[in-house]
Amino acid sequence: MMENGKGPLGRVRKYICLLLCAALLLPPLRADASKMTDITSESIQAIESQISSAQEERNALQGTLTDLQQILRQLEKEKSDLDSYVARLDQELNQMEQTIQELEGKIRTKEAEIDDTQHRLEDARIEEERQYESMKTSISLIYERGLVYMLDIVMGADSFADLLNRVEYVNALVEYSKRMLDGFIATRRIIELYEEALEAEKNYLDEARSAVEEEKESLEALIEEKAREIQAYQENISTQAQAVAEYKADIAARNEIIAALEAAAEAERRRILEQNGKLRTYDGGTFAFPMESYVRVSDDYGPRIHPTLHVEQFHNGVDLTAPRGTAIYAAYDGVVIAAAYSQSMGNYVMIDHGDNLFTIYMHASALYVSEGDVVSKGQKIAAVGATGRATGNHLHFSVRKNGEYVNPWDYIVK
Ligand SMILES: [Zn+2]
Repeated sequence: MMENGKGPLGRVRKYICLLLCAALLLPPLRADASKMTDITSESIQAIESQISSAQEERNALQGTLTDLQQILRQLEKEKSDLDSYVARLDQELNQMEQTIQELEGKIRTKEAEIDDTQHRLEDARIEEERQYESMKTSISLIYERGLVYMLDIVMGADSFADLLNRVEYVNALVEYSKRMLDGFIATRRIIELYEEALEAEKNYLDEARSAVEEEKESLEALIEEKAREIQAYQENISTQAQAVAEYKADIAARNEIIAALEAAAEAERRRILEQNGKLRTYDGGTFAFPMESYVRVSDDYGPRIHPTLHVEQFHNGVDLTAPRGTAIYAAYDGVVIAAAYSQSMGNYVMIDHGDNLFTIYMHASALYVSEGDVVSKGQKIAAVGATGRATGNHLHFSVRKNGEYVNPWDYIVK
């Protein structure tokens, strides 16, 4: 203790040095200890419930899917009446579409959660590394160099009271390193839990993605079933004259709805005129192509041989085949005067562009606008589907001018 002749002064110096070291180490340590207390109580519980809810959600996924066989058995009873058959089937298609959208929403939420958990895990790993480094430093200080100093401290007591104080101080250092170790263990536990949560969330995501695929397959199978039934119905009609009459009745049903909507738009136009309000006018601008992309024009505008009736019939719009869900765009600025369902048109949208010019979009799987909405050229209004009298996923796009169908291509730059 009396090395190099420094005597008691040397010990005081060492003591001061140790105090300084401890003072430097203690504040962050205390902060860590309180942070770790939070981890052990609330956050661990939160992550544990996060893990179990991801597992529960995963178990519940299969229950949300459509039982295709059961739907087909129910529909079997409706086959004698094509109208009610199509309406019932479309109800199922709309329900399935909703299930798919809900599942896709859950997938997006889960992807965000996984991203968040991933970040938390990375933070915890950085924290673990930091704690490990600072523990290594302080352990070597306290238990290697520090032990000699501690011995010095205890041995250097000049009274019993002083010795007690010094022992108290050494205990505080030991307690300090124990808390540091506890904090480190808690961080390790949290890392394990985050890894487990991530695993559970990724399993859920896989399950949800395959559930969406399964539901989409069921939906496509139902559309095929509908196409077969419409086809069979037309083939079962005894004479071609009857089949043509059936087709014409279907178009008449559409036109009746469209004419009523145009009459309502005309009444609205008069009301605005009477009130000296400003009427919407069509400035002659070019239409946007009414959809994101298409595979082919499956049935063009004009007189043609009907694809299934095999007789010449006028087609009042353009049929654009595209995968289900392809975005349908408003061809031009206007007001939505209908966003509804009809047994013939399926889910459809009709837009008033002013000056008695209207566009109609049929057979959608989903509608994104409502009656009264003001839309702009190119705005997404619906998604391609096969609702109504449709035998496959396509958009039927019609343009009406002064109560008559006109060639849509005249308004679109191809
Ligand atoms: Zn068509």
